Amino acid sequence: MPVEFDKKDLAKYPFLKEAQSLVNDRAYSVENFIKSEFGKKISAKAISRINSALNNNYIFEDDRQDNPEAEILSYAISRLVVSCMKERQMNDKLCRYESERAAFFLQTEKPEKKDYVAISMGIDLESRRIKVPDYIELVPNLRDARWQLVNRDVNEGYVSIKREESEELLKERIRSVLHKQLPLPVGDSICSLLQSMVGEISRAYQEKLMEQFGEVNESAFPPCMKAIINAVSAGTNIPHTARFSLTAFMHTIGMDTTGIVEVYTRAPDFDVDKTLYQVEHISGRSGTEYTPPGCATMKTYGLCVNADSLCKNKNIAHPLSYYKIKKKKEDSFKKTVESETNKNRTEVLTKKNNHKDSSVEK
Ligand code: SF4
Repeated sequence: MPVEFDKKDLAKYPFLKEAQSLVNDRAYSVENFIKSEFGKKISAKAISRINSALNNNYIFEDDRQDNPEAEILSYAISRLVVSCMKERQMNDKLCRYESERAAFFLQTEKPEKKDYVAISMGIDLESRRIKVPDYIELVPNLRDARWQLVNRDVNEGYVSIKREESEELLKERIRSVLHKQLPLPVGDSICSLLQSMVGEISRAYQEKLMEQFGEVNESAFPPCMKAIINAVSAGTNIPHTARFSLTAFMHTIGMDTTGIVEVYTRAPDFDVDKTLYQVEHISGRSGTEYTPPGCATMKTYGLCVNADSLCKNKNIAHPLSYYKIKKKKEDSFKKTVESETNKNRTEVLTKKNNHKDSSVEK
């Protein structure tokens, strides 16, 4: 290694190959390590790491002084746990968390170490340009419009990059490299040792999903998604973009594969195997979990139809935002109606009882 990284440095960047060889030395038998007292402490740390990732808690402290080895090992265990979970969104969250964490430390890193981390990830921080194909590969998950190729300064096959942008691209590269590595091929015996941790995180994940979207409510679907469902029900041969958008939307709001396939059974030419394959592919079995497109992309697909007053008045930018707002409104309306009904019922019962009492007195 041209630059010396001690354990405290590696604790900041546990994805570096030098940190990984430390893990291999320390936990040469993963099973024994997990069962050991030290392994249990590390597992608790890994759980807290995953919980922070789940809750998008990107507030980091430089606590590596205490036990840098524990930091490195908890990174490794957290990756095993999410791999056993088999939930793509959890992989996404953990990778995002790790890239944010690394970016936090890189802000104050010595230049030679920062460069080393960047080069390990395939980014040259000193270069002010990137080849177009490399750039295209790097940015697809960056939502901000300034990253779109049409908004960039492109010259002779290169995209110009500012210094501060290089650091953002490095963070994104860390995220995508880690994402490509997950899920790890973890054997059943290790997954069963991690079962209680996997169960704990799976419950927290489900709760988070419910908190975010609650029970699925089709009446709160945005007009664009309702239009696609109507087209499916009418037997229209919908384009791939429509099928993709609807499936990714339903998956993201927490519908399981059966629920999603059930929507497609409304099509007269429903083919269970084909539908199941497509749904599972979009939901993450292929290794990539897709999210539904935003309103701008829906417009370019020609799928933004029947936009209603909520779309317009709230300046909705994503069908998921529409769903969250509408559902919240409907849920609170339902609660009001329920409490009014209960109030009326109580009043009627009280009146009835009062009437009974007065009849008995007579
Ligand atoms: S504005 Fe967005 S949410 Fe509303 S119909 Fe168009 S794509 Fe759907």
